Amino acid sequence: MGANALALPDGTIIVTDAMVRLALDDDNELDDNGKAALLGVIGHEVGHIERRHATRAMTGSSLTAAMSATLFGDFSAVAAGLPAVLTQMRYSRAMELEADDDAVAVLRRNGLEPDVFADALEALERARPGEDKLPRWLKKSMSYLSTHPDTAERIARLRKTAR
Ligand SMILES: [Zn+2]
Repeated sequence: MGANALALPDGTIIVTDAMVRLALDDDNELDDNGKAALLGVIGHEVGHIERRHATRAMTGSSLTAAMSATLFGDFSAVAAGLPAVLTQMRYSRAMELEADDDAVAVLRRNGLEPDVFADALEALERARPGEDKLPRWLKKSMSYLSTHPDTAERIARLRKTAR
């Protein structure tokens, strides 16, 4: 499973190991920048929960759900649970920008600027899928950037907010 973070309709927030690894520094430690990046990522997910985005993001895509049921037919190991949810989930641009506003508010409450969150999004864009058993197209469809679209616009907006 690639780097991802998501909010389920019941209020559960999931941050994958790969996402946490992206926040670690060269010595595999979580430094202040890494903590701030994760705080931004989690603050964004809390925004999705508080604004009840998850339900809308999932129910709006019955076609995708039907497609993934077909596609996952040959992948029984990954058919259950999380990957299926991830491929069905895509937030709208408006939802992304709203959740970013919440992330910025959380960062500011902790004395941090939104730059660190923009840096984290850029790191996600640079990150390549690892070499494990899932086919690349499937990992790509489950990545943070596909469930949380419009990354370039989000980064630009966060950088502008920081000034
Ligand atoms: Zn999002």
